[in-house]
Amino acid sequence: MVNKKQQILRINKLILFLLIFSFCGGGSETSGTVEEVQDTTTTTDVQDTTTTTDVQDTTTTTEVQDTTTTTEVQDTTTTTEVQDTSTFGTWANVKGPPMIYAASDVSQSTIDKTLKWYQIASSAWGEFGPAEIWIVGNSKETVSDLEDLWCDIRTEKDTKWNKEWDCANEYWSPFARYVDDGGAAVSTYYRDYIDYHFFLVTMGPKYPSPDEDDYKVVTMHEYFHIYQHAHISNIDDEGPSSAIRDEKMGGADKPWFAEGGAEYMAQLLYSRQPNVRSNYLKEIMDRKAYSIGEYLDYGKPLKDLTYSDPVQTYDIGTWLVAYIVDKVGEETFRVNFYRDLDGLGFEESFKKHFGMGSDQLISEFDEWIKQPVDELLKIIP
Ligand SMILES: [Zn+2]
Repeated sequence: MVNKKQQILRINKLILFLLIFSFCGGGSETSGTVEEVQDTTTTTDVQDTTTTTDVQDTTTTTEVQDTTTTTEVQDTTTTTEVQDTSTFGTWANVKGPPMIYAASDVSQSTIDKTLKWYQIASSAWGEFGPAEIWIVGNSKETVSDLEDLWCDIRTEKDTKWNKEWDCANEYWSPFARYVDDGGAAVSTYYRDYIDYHFFLVTMGPKYPSPDEDDYKVVTMHEYFHIYQHAHISNIDDEGPSSAIRDEKMGGADKPWFAEGGAEYMAQLLYSRQPNVRSNYLKEIMDRKAYSIGEYLDYGKPLKDLTYSDPVQTYDIGTWLVAYIVDKVGEETFRVNFYRDLDGLGFEESFKKHFGMGSDQLISEFDEWIKQPVDELLKIIP
């Protein structure tokens, strides 16, 4: 929980402090999470797509703005209930909407849009948390205010937080690179040197810009990383436990499974939203098929490709997950595989639910994907 008054007082610059509340329905069962690239547990994404949609929710926003003060806080994150059903840890089973913090130059509509799409995803796949969404703005100045707020919030929530190293400093900032590079990422702060564990979702101001429909898909893609990670109980200790976590994600610095799953699940869910054109998913997958030739030419096994290989591993991973979903069904991929992941480990859960080991399945896939695109697209709903 956050000491609200303190929190509010600190913000005298331009930070917009928003807390938004919303009710998210449903929730399915389990969950997990993922990340994308970078550090330990951080993933960074960017990416594509288009389209429209609409919404639902009930979002009540309480915004506050500008200069100085602000507002109310409705404690979101804090919330609640712990589910604890299964084999995976309970650390990520906190329900409730995320906290949202945005730089002062981020518009209310961006904040609303982010929350809305986050909640569409959490309603579909189950709620996991606690999570904080930090939306970075377009200027270095507002980022610096956001970094100050980050430090305040962190130290309020966690007495073990190391201000010297884990608040922004001359070597590191949680947000600075997003100003220029855009993108989005999820980091799991489930680490042995802190007490308050949470997911950090960072949204950059461009690539995609919040005005693009891709922004909606990226928001859901990030949430699927939370889903993936929430299904893994191993704490991030920079040692053996975090190595197991990486392995359960598909391998350290190996995007094929984690990114492919996040991307395909996000695109699939988006394609089902009201007002999204009926051939949306086929168009997206057709575009991702442009990367197949370079993947086959490059010749490095899919599981060995890293974030820095010059191949669009996200695209190929997305096609792989489409292939798996076509083979075993969406429920088996999204629910059953992740339900057993923590207890059985990656490869055993893979075998149990997908009918064969990952090497064998990929070698089948590598043959299958050589077909003409029209043939491949037949498996896409
Ligand atoms: Zn990702």
